[in-house]
Amino acid sequence: MATLEQLRTDPDDDVPTFDSLDPGTGAVVGTFPVDDAVAVAAAVERARSAATWWRTLEFAGRAVHLRRYKAEIARRIDELADLVHKENGKPHGDAVLEITLVLDHLTWSSTRARKVLGPHRVFPGLLAANNSATVEYQPLGVIGVIGPWNYPVFTPMGSIAYALAAGNAVVFKPSEYTPAIGRWLVDAWSRAVPDGRDVFGLVTGLGATGAALCRSGVDKIAFTGSAATGRKVMAACAEGLVPVLMECGGKDSLLVDADADLEAAADAALWCGMSNGGQTCIGTERVYVADAAYDRFVDILTTKAKGLAPGSGDEASWGPPTMPSQVDTIRRHVTDALRRGGRAVVGGESSVDVSGVGPTILVDVPEDADAVREETFGPTLTVTRVGDIEEGLTLSNASEYGLGGAVFTGSRQRGIELARRMRSGMTSVNSIMTFAMVPGLPFGGVGESGFGRIHGADGLREFTRPKAVTAQRFPLPVDLTSFNRPVRATELMSNVMRLVHGRSR
Ligand code: NAD
Repeated sequence: MATLEQLRTDPDDDVPTFDSLDPGTGAVVGTFPVDDAVAVAAAVERARSAATWWRTLEFAGRAVHLRRYKAEIARRIDELADLVHKENGKPHGDAVLEITLVLDHLTWSSTRARKVLGPHRVFPGLLAANNSATVEYQPLGVIGVIGPWNYPVFTPMGSIAYALAAGNAVVFKPSEYTPAIGRWLVDAWSRAVPDGRDVFGLVTGLGATGAALCRSGVDKIAFTGSAATGRKVMAACAEGLVPVLMECGGKDSLLVDADADLEAAADAALWCGMSNGGQTCIGTERVYVADAAYDRFVDILTTKAKGLAPGSGDEASWGPPTMPSQVDTIRRHVTDALRRGGRAVVGGESSVDVSGVGPTILVDVPEDADAVREETFGPTLTVTRVGDIEEGLTLSNASEYGLGGAVFTGSRQRGIELARRMRSGMTSVNSIMTFAMVPGLPFGGVGESGFGRIHGADGLREFTRPKAVTAQRFPLPVDLTSFNRPVRATELMSNVMRLVHGRSR
C-alpha cells in the first residue's frame, strides 16, 4: 500500500491501492484500488448491461428511483457533510450547502426530463406536408464522469444527475483526493436502487484510471478539472471518436461600478473569492473597480478580510488546502505579483502555508502577472482600479478563461446589459454564483473554461442524441423521391418555389 503522494511522485504499476488523507490531520480517510484498464472495462461492461434495464424504465420509472436516491442523500446529509469535511477539508456548513444544491438538481433533472427530452412534434414543412415529424432525445448509453476534488459532490453530480435522468448509466472516476466521497455517492445509490446498482458504478485511481475510462468504449466523457488535463482527456477520447463535455477552470472577475452598493460588493467578493479556500472554479479571482469607488471599496474589503482565517474547526472561514501541491501555485502567483510592483494590502507571501492559506488581497498588479492571467485557486484577490466599468469589462474579457462572473452596479438594467457582454458562460448581477443555484440554467464556460453544459435543459440534452422520425400520413399523388417522377412534376416544383421563395420581401 502507498500513500497518494508516494504514488504521484513514484508511480509503481505493482501498487494496487492508494490512500486518501484528511488534509487537516493527515489521517488516512480510506484506502482504494488503483483500477487499471481491465477493471475499468469490467465496470463499463456492468454499466452497459444495467443501462438496458434503466432505459426501459422510461422517464416516469427513472424518476421514482432518482427520488429514492435523493431521499437517501437527504436523510444522511450530515453523514455525507462530515465525510466531505474530513476528506476535502471544507467546513461542515459549506459541505451542507454543497449537498443542498445537489438535491435541487436531482429534483429538477428527474422531474423535467420527459418534458425536455420526450418526443416533440415539429412542423414538417412544404415538401413533407403529408408526414408527421417528431424529434426526441435518446440516451447515449454509458457516460464516464471524471471529477475534481474541490466540490466533490456538487461538481460530478452536475453531470451524474442529468446523465441518469436522461436514461444513461454512469461510471464515475472521482478525484484521487476525494475517492471516499465518490464511494459514498455510489453506495447510497446501491441502497436506494438495489435492483439497478450497476446503473451508477465507481472506478478509483489516479490519472491513468481516468485515461483508461476515456478508452473504455464509453459513449461520452463528462470531464471536470483543469484545462491542461482536459486536453489530455480530449486526445484520449479522439482515438475512439468519443464525444466530450469539458468543464474546466476559470479566472472569474467581479466588476464594481461607481454607483454600486460597496458593502454588498465587498462581502460578495470575499465570499466568492475565498470561501472553500478559493478552490472554486466559479470563484472570483479578479476584481475591477471604477475609479470613483476604488478607495472606499478597498477600505471596506480589507477591513472585512482581516476577520477571515483558515482552520479545521467549525469556526474556520475555510479549511486547509485539499491538494497540497496547489500551495506552490498560490505562492508563485503572490510572489510574481509583488515582484512586479503589486502590493499586498492583506496577507502576502507569509500567508501561504500548506497547513492553511490565509487571505491575500493584492493591488497594483499588472495585467500580465500570473495572478491575473492564470487560475490561482487560493484565497487571493487582485483588486484593480479602472477608469470606468467599461474598462473593467474590457480587461475582464481579455482572459483566456470565461466561466462565470459578477457585476455590481446601482442600475439593474445596466448590470444585465454588462452581464450579456461579459465573455463567460454565466454572470450574476448584484450577487455572486447565483446562476449555479438555479437548476434550470445551463452551467459551463467558453475558451479555456471548456465547452458543453451541465444543468438545465441543455444539461439534459448534453447526455443524449437527437432522434428524428417522420411518419407518412398519406401518399402524395406525385412522389418526388421516385424514379417514376413525371417531368411535369419538376416544372411544377420550379413554379411553386418561384412563388413561395422568389419574392425578395
Ligand atoms: P485535474 O485536472 O488535476 O483532475 C481532474 C480529474 O482528472 C481527476 O479525477 C484526475 O484523476 C483526472 N485525470 C488526471 N489526468 C488524467 C488523464 N490523463 N486522463 C483522464 N483523467 C485524468 O483537476 P483537479 O485539480 O482535480 O480540479 C481542479 C480543477 O477543476 C480546477 O481547474 C477547477 O477550476 C476545475 N473545476 C471546474 C469546474 C467546472 O464546472 N467548470 C468545477 C470544479 C472544478
